[in-house]
Amino acid sequence: MQLSCHCENVKITVTPPSQVTECNCSICSRYMSLWGYYPPGEPRIEIGAAGISSYSWGDNELDFIRCSHCGCITHYETKPGQTNPKVAINFGMERKQVAEVPVRYFNGAELL
Ligand SMILES: [Zn+2]
Repeated sequence: MQLSCHCENVKITVTPPSQVTECNCSICSRYMSLWGYYPPGEPRIEIGAAGISSYSWGDNELDFIRCSHCGCITHYETKPGQTNPKVAINFGMERKQVAEVPVRYFNGAELL
């Protein structure tokens, strides 16, 4: 399936997720994100001329990526050196396409 940020500067092509994760940690609850996890390099992520920005905090294990033009959070990536490298795609950008996909609720607020 394909998804994109609002202005279509960032386009992602990925196999449909079998489930998505909603997390209540301090960052995910603000982003209202629905994450689907993939091995690094598996989702095809095309970044247009407007570019991307990233945000990292706390233990700095993750880079949250957003479109520099429209500001949508498109995905996050583990930083180099993490034991479980992954890319998480924000399916909150395409809620209709994942309306039938089971949602896993992750209590990140207790862990992070
Ligand atoms: Zn955009």
